[in-house]
Amino acid sequence: MATTKHSVLVVGGGFGGVRAARRLAKQTNLQVTLISDKDSFAYYPQLYHAATGGSRSEASLPLANLLHGTGIHIVHDKAVALDPAGKTITGSSGQRYHYDDLILALGSVTNYFGIKGLKEFAYDIKTIEGAEKFKQHLHHELVELHKTELHYVVIGAGPTGVELSAALGQYMRRLVRLHGITRPHYNIDLIEAAPRILPHSSESYANHVLRRLKKIGVNVMVGTAVEAETAEGLQIGGKLLKSHTVVWTSGVSNNPFFSNNSQSFKLAKNGRVVVNDHMEAGQDIYVIGDNAASKYGGLAETAVNDADYVAKDIKRRLAGRRRPAYRQPAPSPVIPVGSGWAAVQIGPLAIYGYLGWLIRRSADLVAYRSVEAAANAFKVWLKETLHEDDCPICQANLAK
Ligand SMILES: Cc1cc2nc3c(=O)[nH]c(=O)nc-3n(C[C@H](O)[C@H](O)[C@H](O)COP(=O)(O)OP(=O)(O)OC[C@H]3O[C@@H](n4cnc5c(N)ncnc54)[C@H](O)[C@@H]3O)c2cc1C
Repeated sequence: MATTKHSVLVVGGGFGGVRAARRLAKQTNLQVTLISDKDSFAYYPQLYHAATGGSRSEASLPLANLLHGTGIHIVHDKAVALDPAGKTITGSSGQRYHYDDLILALGSVTNYFGIKGLKEFAYDIKTIEGAEKFKQHLHHELVELHKTELHYVVIGAGPTGVELSAALGQYMRRLVRLHGITRPHYNIDLIEAAPRILPHSSESYANHVLRRLKKIGVNVMVGTAVEAETAEGLQIGGKLLKSHTVVWTSGVSNNPFFSNNSQSFKLAKNGRVVVNDHMEAGQDIYVIGDNAASKYGGLAETAVNDADYVAKDIKRRLAGRRRPAYRQPAPSPVIPVGSGWAAVQIGPLAIYGYLGWLIRRSADLVAYRSVEAAANAFKVWLKETLHEDDCPICQANLAK
Protein backbone atom coordinates (compact mmCIF):
# COMPACT_ATOMS: atom_id res chain seq x y z
CA MET A 1 0.00 0.00 0.00
CA ALA A 2 1.32 3.41 -0.94
CA THR A 3 2.04 5.68 2.02
CA THR A 4 1.85 9.45 1.77
CA LYS A 5 5.03 11.08 2.90
CA HIS A 6 5.16 14.37 4.76
CA SER A 7 6.04 16.93 2.12
CA VAL A 8 8.58 19.66 2.71
CA LEU A 9 8.68 22.38 0.08
CA VAL A 10 11.89 24.41 0.00
CA VAL A 11 11.83 27.60 -2.05
CA GLY A 12 15.22 28.97 -3.18
CA GLY A 13 18.23 27.11 -4.52
CA GLY A 14 20.87 29.08 -2.62
CA PHE A 15 22.86 28.47 0.56
CA GLY A 16 19.88 28.12 2.90
CA GLY A 17 17.57 26.23 0.55
CA VAL A 18 20.08 23.70 -0.77
CA ARG A 19 21.49 23.01 2.67
CA ALA A 20 18.04 22.53 4.27
CA ALA A 21 16.86 20.28 1.42
CA ARG A 22 19.99 18.12 1.64
CA ARG A 23 19.65 17.76 5.41
CA LEU A 24 15.97 16.79 5.20
CA ALA A 25 16.37 14.43 2.26
CA LYS A 26 18.18 11.98 4.53
CA GLN A 27 14.84 11.31 6.31
CA THR A 28 12.95 8.49 4.60
CA ASN A 29 9.56 9.71 5.89
CA LEU A 30 9.88 13.02 4.01
CA GLN A 31 9.31 14.03 0.39
CA VAL A 32 11.53 17.04 -0.28
CA THR A 33 10.91 19.36 -3.23
CA LEU A 34 13.15 22.32 -4.03
CA ILE A 35 11.79 25.12 -6.23
CA SER A 36 14.22 27.62 -7.65
CA ASP A 37 13.96 30.26 -10.34
CA LYS A 38 17.50 29.40 -11.51
CA ASP A 39 19.01 26.10 -12.63
CA SER A 40 22.24 26.85 -10.80
CA PHE A 41 23.42 27.57 -7.31
CA ALA A 42 25.35 30.84 -7.04
CA TYR A 43 28.44 30.55 -4.86
CA TYR A 44 28.46 34.27 -4.06
CA PRO A 45 31.76 34.36 -2.16
CA GLN A 46 33.56 33.59 -5.45
CA LEU A 47 31.69 36.05 -7.67
CA TYR A 48 34.27 38.78 -7.10
CA HIS A 49 36.85 36.28 -8.36
CA ALA A 50 34.75 35.30 -11.39
CA ALA A 51 34.54 39.05 -12.17
CA THR A 52 38.32 39.42 -12.03
CA GLY A 53 39.70 36.47 -13.94
CA GLY A 54 38.30 33.33 -12.32
CA SER A 55 36.17 30.97 -14.38
CA ARG A 56 32.43 30.67 -13.85
CA SER A 57 32.44 26.98 -12.93
CA GLU A 58 33.41 27.59 -9.29
CA ALA A 59 30.86 30.37 -8.78
CA SER A 60 27.87 28.78 -10.52
CA LEU A 61 27.10 25.13 -9.82
CA PRO A 62 24.20 23.33 -11.58
CA LEU A 63 21.54 22.31 -9.02
CA ALA A 64 21.08 18.97 -10.79
CA ASN A 65 24.74 18.11 -10.06
CA LEU A 66 24.64 19.45 -6.54
CA LEU A 67 21.59 17.41 -5.60
CA HIS A 68 22.29 14.33 -7.70
CA GLY A 69 21.42 11.10 -5.89
CA THR A 70 19.71 12.83 -2.95
CA GLY A 71 16.12 12.05 -4.01
CA ILE A 72 15.24 15.77 -3.85
CA HIS A 73 12.70 16.72 -6.49
CA ILE A 74 13.95 19.88 -8.26
CA VAL A 75 11.43 22.22 -9.87
CA HIS A 76 12.40 25.20 -12.02
CA ASP A 77 9.81 27.88 -11.29
CA LYS A 78 9.53 31.26 -9.64
CA ALA A 79 7.41 31.40 -6.47
CA VAL A 80 5.02 34.33 -6.69
CA ALA A 81 2.20 33.72 -4.21
CA LEU A 82 1.63 32.02 -0.89
CA ASP A 83 -1.68 30.68 0.34
CA PRO A 84 -1.09 29.73 3.99
CA ALA A 85 -4.68 28.52 4.48
CA GLY A 86 -4.57 26.19 1.48
CA LYS A 87 -0.89 25.40 2.19
CA THR A 88 0.25 26.10 -1.35
CA ILE A 89 2.82 28.15 -3.21
CA THR A 90 1.97 29.32 -6.73
CA GLY A 91 4.71 29.63 -9.32
CA SER A 92 4.93 32.12 -12.20
CA SER A 93 4.18 29.11 -14.44
CA GLY A 94 0.71 29.01 -12.85
CA GLN A 95 1.49 25.69 -11.16
CA ARG A 96 0.50 25.22 -7.50
CA TYR A 97 2.71 23.35 -5.09
CA HIS A 98 1.32 21.86 -1.90
CA TYR A 99 3.35 21.69 1.30
CA ASP A 100 3.07 20.24 4.78
CA ASP A 101 6.09 22.28 5.80
CA LEU A 102 7.44 25.25 3.88
CA ILE A 103 10.97 26.68 4.02
CA LEU A 104 11.48 30.03 2.33
CA ALA A 105 15.08 30.93 1.43
CA LEU A 106 14.82 33.31 -1.51
CA GLY A 107 17.81 35.52 -0.80
CA SER A 108 18.03 39.27 -1.31
CA VAL A 109 17.98 41.55 -4.34
CA THR A 110 20.09 44.56 -5.35
CA ASN A 111 18.88 47.88 -4.02
CA TYR A 112 20.06 51.13 -5.65
CA PHE A 113 18.39 53.25 -2.97
CA GLY A 114 16.77 55.29 -5.73
CA ILE A 115 20.12 56.79 -6.84
CA LYS A 116 19.58 58.03 -10.38
CA GLY A 117 21.38 56.24 -13.20
CA LEU A 118 22.93 53.39 -11.18
CA LYS A 119 20.52 50.77 -12.46
CA GLU A 120 21.21 51.78 -16.06
CA PHE A 121 24.96 52.35 -15.94
CA ALA A 122 26.55 50.53 -12.99
CA TYR A 123 27.74 46.94 -13.11
CA ASP A 124 26.44 44.52 -10.48
CA ILE A 125 28.27 41.33 -9.54
CA LYS A 126 25.40 39.70 -7.65
CA THR A 127 24.92 37.12 -10.39
CA ILE A 128 27.38 35.11 -12.47
CA GLU A 129 25.97 36.83 -15.57
CA GLY A 130 26.68 40.23 -13.99
CA ALA A 131 30.23 39.20 -13.06
CA GLU A 132 30.91 37.99 -16.60
CA LYS A 133 29.42 41.08 -18.18
CA PHE A 134 31.77 43.19 -16.07
CA LYS A 135 34.79 41.08 -17.06
CA GLN A 136 33.87 41.30 -20.75
CA HIS A 137 33.52 45.07 -20.42
CA LEU A 138 37.07 45.42 -19.03
CA HIS A 139 38.50 43.47 -21.94
CA HIS A 140 36.44 45.16 -24.63
CA GLU A 141 37.35 48.59 -23.36
CA LEU A 142 41.05 47.76 -23.44
CA VAL A 143 40.75 46.26 -26.93
CA GLU A 144 38.70 49.20 -28.30
CA LEU A 145 40.48 52.11 -26.60
CA HIS A 146 43.85 50.45 -26.32
CA LYS A 147 44.32 52.39 -23.09
CA THR A 148 42.95 52.27 -19.59
CA GLU A 149 40.32 54.53 -18.06
CA LEU A 150 41.46 56.98 -15.41
CA HIS A 151 38.99 55.63 -12.84
CA TYR A 152 37.69 52.13 -12.14
CA VAL A 153 35.17 52.62 -9.38
CA VAL A 154 33.69 50.22 -6.84
CA ILE A 155 30.89 51.67 -4.71
CA GLY A 156 30.38 50.22 -1.24
CA ALA A 157 33.17 49.23 1.14
CA GLY A 158 31.42 46.24 2.69
CA PRO A 159 33.05 42.81 2.29
CA THR A 160 32.10 42.49 -1.42
CA GLY A 161 33.40 45.94 -2.35
CA VAL A 162 36.64 45.38 -0.45
CA GLU A 163 37.22 41.95 -2.03
CA LEU A 164 36.41 43.23 -5.50
CA SER A 165 38.49 46.41 -5.43
CA ALA A 166 41.54 44.51 -4.13
CA ALA A 167 41.20 41.78 -6.75
CA LEU A 168 40.49 44.35 -9.49
CA GLY A 169 43.82 46.11 -8.88
CA GLN A 170 45.71 42.86 -9.37
CA TYR A 171 43.58 41.86 -12.34
CA MET A 172 44.08 45.19 -14.10
CA ARG A 173 47.86 44.87 -13.75
CA ARG A 174 47.58 41.52 -15.48
CA LEU A 175 45.21 42.77 -18.16
CA VAL A 176 47.29 45.75 -19.22
CA ARG A 177 50.30 43.45 -19.65
CA LEU A 178 48.25 40.99 -21.64
CA HIS A 179 46.75 43.66 -23.86
CA GLY A 180 50.16 45.22 -24.44
CA ILE A 181 49.26 48.59 -22.95
CA THR A 182 52.36 50.59 -22.18
CA ARG A 183 52.56 53.21 -19.44
CA PRO A 184 49.02 52.61 -18.14
CA HIS A 185 47.60 55.25 -15.84
CA TYR A 186 44.54 54.41 -13.81
CA ASN A 187 43.06 54.45 -10.30
CA ILE A 188 41.06 51.82 -8.50
CA ASP A 189 38.64 53.81 -6.37
CA LEU A 190 36.62 52.35 -3.52
CA ILE A 191 33.84 54.72 -2.47
CA GLU A 192 31.92 54.43 0.79
CA ALA A 193 29.19 56.71 2.16
CA ALA A 194 29.80 55.67 5.80
CA PRO A 195 32.67 57.29 7.74
CA ARG A 196 34.76 54.11 7.50
CA ILE A 197 35.12 50.90 5.51
CA LEU A 198 33.51 47.66 6.76
CA PRO A 199 31.04 49.54 8.97
CA HIS A 200 29.73 46.25 10.44
CA SER A 201 33.16 45.00 11.57
CA SER A 202 35.28 46.18 14.48
CA GLU A 203 37.31 49.33 13.98
CA SER A 204 40.61 47.53 14.45
CA TYR A 205 39.69 44.86 11.88
CA ALA A 206 38.62 47.57 9.41
CA ASN A 207 41.86 49.51 9.98
CA HIS A 208 44.00 46.46 9.17
CA VAL A 209 42.03 45.94 5.96
CA LEU A 210 42.31 49.64 5.10
CA ARG A 211 46.11 49.56 5.45
CA ARG A 212 46.26 46.52 3.18
CA LEU A 213 44.02 48.18 0.56
CA LYS A 214 46.22 51.26 0.52
CA LYS A 215 49.36 49.14 0.28
CA ILE A 216 48.10 47.40 -2.84
CA GLY A 217 47.11 50.70 -4.42
CA VAL A 218 43.36 50.99 -3.86
CA ASN A 219 42.25 54.59 -3.46
CA VAL A 220 39.72 54.57 -0.59
CA MET A 221 37.21 57.44 -0.22
CA VAL A 222 34.98 57.24 2.87
CA GLY A 223 32.16 59.60 3.85
CA THR A 224 31.52 60.02 0.13
CA ALA A 225 27.94 59.67 -1.05
CA VAL A 226 27.25 59.08 -4.73
CA GLU A 227 24.47 61.36 -5.99
CA ALA A 228 23.87 59.98 -9.49
CA GLU A 229 25.46 58.14 -12.39
CA THR A 230 25.34 59.18 -16.02
CA ALA A 231 26.91 57.76 -19.19
CA GLU A 232 29.93 59.98 -18.37
CA GLY A 233 30.52 58.95 -14.78
CA LEU A 234 29.50 59.59 -11.18
CA GLN A 235 28.15 62.74 -9.62
CA ILE A 236 29.78 63.22 -6.22
CA GLY A 237 29.48 66.46 -4.25
CA GLY A 238 28.16 68.15 -7.41
CA LYS A 239 31.31 67.16 -9.36
CA LEU A 240 31.78 64.58 -12.10
CA LEU A 241 34.12 61.64 -11.55
CA LYS A 242 34.61 60.39 -15.11
CA SER A 243 34.28 56.63 -15.49
CA HIS A 244 32.57 54.04 -17.63
CA THR A 245 33.45 51.33 -15.16
CA VAL A 246 31.43 51.58 -11.97
CA VAL A 247 30.39 48.58 -9.89
CA TRP A 248 27.64 48.89 -7.30
CA THR A 249 28.08 46.55 -4.31
CA SER A 250 26.46 48.72 -1.71
CA GLY A 251 22.88 47.74 -1.16
CA VAL A 252 20.55 44.81 -0.94
CA SER A 253 16.94 44.52 0.16
CA ASN A 254 14.67 41.64 0.92
CA ASN A 255 13.24 39.54 -1.91
CA PRO A 256 10.04 41.20 -3.22
CA PHE A 257 8.14 37.92 -2.71
CA PHE A 258 7.61 38.99 0.92
CA SER A 259 6.25 42.48 0.27
CA ASN A 260 4.09 41.00 -2.51
CA ASN A 261 2.66 38.56 0.06
CA SER A 262 2.76 40.94 3.01
CA GLN A 263 -0.63 39.78 4.31
CA SER A 264 1.07 36.51 5.33
CA PHE A 265 4.15 38.00 7.01
CA LYS A 266 5.15 40.52 9.60
CA LEU A 267 7.95 42.58 8.08
CA ALA A 268 10.63 44.36 10.10
CA LYS A 269 11.66 47.96 9.27
CA ASN A 270 14.38 46.68 6.91
CA GLY A 271 11.79 44.58 5.02
CA ARG A 272 13.03 41.26 6.35
CA VAL A 273 10.57 38.78 7.85
CA VAL A 274 10.02 38.65 11.60
CA VAL A 275 10.50 35.07 12.82
CA ASN A 276 10.13 33.39 16.21
CA ASP A 277 12.91 31.51 17.97
CA HIS A 278 12.30 28.47 15.73
CA MET A 279 12.70 30.61 12.56
CA GLU A 280 8.95 30.29 11.95
CA ALA A 281 6.97 33.11 10.38
CA GLY A 282 3.60 31.32 10.51
CA GLN A 283 2.01 27.90 10.84
CA ASP A 284 4.45 25.40 9.26
CA ILE A 285 6.30 28.23 7.49
CA TYR A 286 9.99 28.75 8.13
CA VAL A 287 11.92 31.76 6.80
CA ILE A 288 15.72 31.55 6.81
CA GLY A 289 18.94 33.15 5.56
CA ASP A 290 18.84 36.64 4.07
CA ASN A 291 15.03 36.74 4.27
CA ALA A 292 14.76 36.53 8.06
CA ALA A 293 15.08 39.54 10.36
CA SER A 294 17.74 37.84 12.46
CA LYS A 295 20.84 39.16 14.20
CA TYR A 296 23.43 37.74 11.82
CA GLY A 297 21.39 37.57 8.60
CA GLY A 298 23.04 38.54 5.29
CA LEU A 299 25.81 35.93 5.35
CA ALA A 300 26.16 32.52 3.73
CA GLU A 301 27.38 31.08 7.02
CA THR A 302 24.20 32.25 8.76
CA ALA A 303 21.96 30.84 6.01
CA VAL A 304 23.63 27.43 6.42
CA ASN A 305 23.31 27.57 10.22
CA ASP A 306 19.63 28.53 9.91
CA ALA A 307 19.06 25.64 7.49
CA ASP A 308 20.68 23.14 9.85
CA TYR A 309 18.55 24.30 12.74
CA VAL A 310 15.29 24.28 10.76
CA ALA A 311 15.94 20.79 9.36
CA LYS A 312 16.47 19.53 12.91
CA ASP A 313 13.42 21.42 14.17
CA ILE A 314 11.16 19.79 11.58
CA LYS A 315 12.52 16.33 12.40
CA ARG A 316 12.07 16.91 16.14
CA ARG A 317 8.54 18.23 15.72
CA LEU A 318 7.48 15.30 13.55
CA ALA A 319 9.00 12.87 16.05
CA GLY A 320 7.16 14.63 18.90
CA ARG A 321 10.46 15.48 20.56
CA ARG A 322 11.40 18.58 22.53
CA ARG A 323 12.23 21.56 20.33
CA PRO A 324 15.00 23.76 21.77
CA ALA A 325 14.96 27.40 20.69
CA TYR A 326 17.48 28.49 18.08
CA ARG A 327 20.59 30.38 19.09
CA GLN A 328 22.05 31.77 15.90
CA PRO A 329 25.85 31.37 16.07
CA ALA A 330 27.96 34.51 15.59
CA PRO A 331 29.67 34.36 12.18
CA SER A 332 33.43 34.64 11.64
CA PRO A 333 34.13 37.12 8.85
CA VAL A 334 36.90 36.09 6.46
CA ILE A 335 37.65 38.76 3.85
CA PRO A 336 40.29 38.22 1.16
CA VAL A 337 42.09 41.44 0.22
CA GLY A 338 44.06 40.57 -2.89
CA SER A 339 45.66 37.24 -3.57
CA GLY A 340 47.48 35.63 -0.64
CA TRP A 341 46.08 37.93 2.08
CA ALA A 342 42.87 37.77 4.12
CA ALA A 343 41.48 39.23 7.33
CA VAL A 344 39.83 36.76 9.69
CA GLN A 345 37.91 37.41 12.89
CA ILE A 346 37.08 34.39 15.05
CA GLY A 347 35.54 35.66 18.28
CA PRO A 348 38.17 37.89 19.90
CA LEU A 349 40.96 36.44 17.71
CA ALA A 350 41.96 38.36 14.55
CA ILE A 351 44.33 36.95 11.95
CA TYR A 352 45.71 38.92 9.01
CA GLY A 353 47.88 38.00 6.07
CA TYR A 354 48.82 34.72 4.46
CA LEU A 355 47.55 32.61 7.37
CA GLY A 356 44.22 34.39 6.97
CA TRP A 357 44.32 33.50 3.28
CA LEU A 358 44.82 29.81 4.12
CA ILE A 359 41.87 30.00 6.52
CA ARG A 360 39.77 31.55 3.77
CA ARG A 361 40.72 28.72 1.40
CA SER A 362 39.66 26.18 4.07
CA ALA A 363 36.43 28.13 4.69
CA ASP A 364 35.64 27.87 0.97
CA LEU A 365 36.05 24.09 1.12
CA VAL A 366 33.72 23.93 4.13
CA ALA A 367 31.20 26.15 2.31
CA TYR A 368 31.23 24.00 -0.86
CA ARG A 369 30.85 20.94 1.36
CA SER A 370 27.83 22.51 3.06
CA VAL A 371 25.85 22.28 -0.18
CA GLU A 372 27.26 19.23 -2.00
CA ALA A 373 28.76 15.79 -1.55
CA ALA A 374 32.32 15.67 -0.17
CA ALA A 375 34.01 14.35 -3.35
CA ASN A 376 32.37 16.98 -5.60
CA ALA A 377 33.02 19.78 -3.12
CA PHE A 378 36.70 18.86 -3.03
CA LYS A 379 36.88 18.71 -6.84
CA VAL A 380 35.39 22.19 -7.29
CA TRP A 381 37.55 23.63 -4.51
CA LEU A 382 40.74 22.08 -5.90
CA LYS A 383 39.97 23.38 -9.38
CA GLU A 384 39.48 26.86 -7.99
CA THR A 385 42.71 26.62 -5.97
CA LEU A 386 44.82 25.39 -8.87
CA HIS A 387 43.33 27.76 -11.43
CA GLU A 388 43.51 30.88 -9.31
CA ASP A 389 44.08 33.15 -12.33
CA ASP A 390 42.33 31.14 -14.97
CA CYS A 391 40.56 33.71 -17.11
CA PRO A 392 38.94 32.18 -20.21
CA ILE A 393 38.98 35.52 -22.02
CA CYS A 394 42.71 36.03 -21.40
CA GLN A 395 43.42 32.44 -22.40
CA ALA A 396 41.63 33.04 -25.71
CA ASN A 397 43.63 36.24 -26.27
CA LEU A 398 46.90 34.47 -25.51
CA ALA A 399 46.05 31.69 -27.94
CA LYS A 400 45.59 34.18 -30.83
C1 LIG B 1 28.85 39.22 -4.33
C2 LIG B 1 28.52 38.61 -2.99
C3 LIG B 1 29.54 38.08 -2.20
C4 LIG B 1 29.25 37.50 -0.96
N1 LIG B 1 30.28 36.99 -0.21
C5 LIG B 1 30.01 36.39 0.96
C6 LIG B 1 31.06 35.81 1.75
O1 LIG B 1 32.22 35.86 1.37
N2 LIG B 1 30.72 35.20 2.91
C7 LIG B 1 29.42 35.14 3.35
O2 LIG B 1 29.18 34.55 4.41
N3 LIG B 1 28.42 35.68 2.64
C8 LIG B 1 28.68 36.30 1.47
N4 LIG B 1 27.66 36.87 0.75
C9 LIG B 1 26.28 36.81 1.28
C10 LIG B 1 25.70 35.41 1.05
O3 LIG B 1 25.97 34.96 -0.25
C11 LIG B 1 24.20 35.39 1.34
O4 LIG B 1 24.00 35.87 2.65
C12 LIG B 1 23.63 33.99 1.18
O5 LIG B 1 23.72 33.58 -0.16
C13 LIG B 1 22.18 33.95 1.67
O6 LIG B 1 21.67 32.66 1.46
P1 LIG B 1 20.13 32.47 1.13
O7 LIG B 1 19.89 31.02 1.02
O8 LIG B 1 19.33 33.26 2.08
O9 LIG B 1 19.94 33.17 -0.29
P2 LIG B 1 20.69 32.85 -1.70
O10 LIG B 1 21.93 32.08 -1.50
O11 LIG B 1 20.77 34.18 -2.38
O12 LIG B 1 19.65 31.95 -2.44
C14 LIG B 1 18.38 32.41 -2.87
C15 LIG B 1 17.92 31.51 -3.99
O13 LIG B 1 16.54 31.72 -4.23
C16 LIG B 1 16.30 31.84 -5.63
N5 LIG B 1 15.07 32.66 -5.77
C17 LIG B 1 14.94 33.97 -5.62
N6 LIG B 1 13.65 34.34 -5.78
C18 LIG B 1 12.97 33.20 -6.05
C19 LIG B 1 11.60 32.93 -6.30
N7 LIG B 1 10.66 33.90 -6.29
N8 LIG B 1 11.24 31.66 -6.54
C20 LIG B 1 12.16 30.64 -6.54
N9 LIG B 1 13.47 30.87 -6.30
C21 LIG B 1 13.86 32.14 -6.05
C22 LIG B 1 17.57 32.51 -6.14
O14 LIG B 1 17.75 32.33 -7.52
C23 LIG B 1 18.62 31.77 -5.32
O15 LIG B 1 18.92 30.55 -5.92
C24 LIG B 1 27.91 37.46 -0.49
C25 LIG B 1 26.89 37.99 -1.28
C26 LIG B 1 27.19 38.57 -2.52
C27 LIG B 1 26.08 39.14 -3.35
